[in-house]
Amino acid sequence: MKTLQVAKFANIPIKIHWSFGAFILLFVGYGLSIKMNGSDLIWFLAFIASMFLCVIMHEYGHALSARRYGVKTIDIIISPIGGIARLERLPEKPIQELIVAIAGPLVNVVIGLALCLVLYLINQDLTFLINEENPFDQLNSVNGFLVLLIWTNAVLFLFNLIPAFPMDGGRILRALLSMRLGRVKGTQWAALIGRILAVGFIGFAVFSKDYMLIFIGIFVFVMAGAENNQVIIESILDKAIVNDIMKTEFSKIHISEPLRTMFDKYIRGGEKNYLIFDSMDNISGVIPELFLKQASKDNILDSTTANEYMSPKILRVTKDVTLKNLFEKMNKEGIAIAAIIEDNDLIGVVDRSMLQNYLKLHIGKR
Ligand SMILES: [Zn+2]
Repeated sequence: MKTLQVAKFANIPIKIHWSFGAFILLFVGYGLSIKMNGSDLIWFLAFIASMFLCVIMHEYGHALSARRYGVKTIDIIISPIGGIARLERLPEKPIQELIVAIAGPLVNVVIGLALCLVLYLINQDLTFLINEENPFDQLNSVNGFLVLLIWTNAVLFLFNLIPAFPMDGGRILRALLSMRLGRVKGTQWAALIGRILAVGFIGFAVFSKDYMLIFIGIFVFVMAGAENNQVIIESILDKAIVNDIMKTEFSKIHISEPLRTMFDKYIRGGEKNYLIFDSMDNISGVIPELFLKQASKDNILDSTTANEYMSPKILRVTKDVTLKNLFEKMNKEGIAIAAIIEDNDLIGVVDRSMLQNYLKLHIGKR
């Protein structure tokens, strides 16, 4: 993802997706096209900035509550459609997931109430909140600005509580169901409820010709399935360990060998990912399938040695690690093949294709 880090708070980088810049420009363009004057435009941009500050604080609600359970947050990404706190993993105890999921929307409640208090302190009155005039027209006043920001937080709160993945409400529902049904069944039910809601959404949206809502409905429908698959995959991988699938026979490629050696094996249906060794028989790097394909496209298979092209990222694990644990490590670091080590000796390898084969075999059996 093309992102730009703009700040770091509590050791979590805040990144902005490039499309967010385009979004701001679009608004400035819109403002100028309807002949918004300079000060109105500044109020308007200040409002957008405040709105995204609320979104960032919402994400920090998730991130900081996850930290309490030892779950790190990789980063927080802000895009025009909202924020995402990318957690390293989800906490597994349902009660923890519940608290992490609910912490985000609760931040919006706190912000909303605090702003209500400010509004009250300024005016000794809260009737502005239900003013019938369009608040967008009064954005260029402190009251209009506060009212719109309070409503924004109310919408953020309610929208996120829709009980369908990937909204927080979907996770809250899954956590509640998991307490009684276990994680896999809980997720299946939550996904089903999310899909029924999505179909309802789409039906209503088609009926009212609201194309934005149709789009959201389809998105929710697809995401519900994705979440469901994810949990099924995790539960399968959690039941096996590296020893069950590792290959003890594999090619040892020397750093001086050309990429052609590996590519030829790969093309003939051999291994897809390779460990590279130096003359002392130590692993010095990795050449994954993706690299081989690229090298073939660039026509450098014969002119390039393994040493010049390999990735230095080496993942070493022991054979008693669960496949789920291995899978998470490989995903996090973007690694295609792991070296299995016992008493300092290399005893085997596991790569992505072996994990995929294992999944294929077991998904059907469920
Ligand atoms: Zn959230």
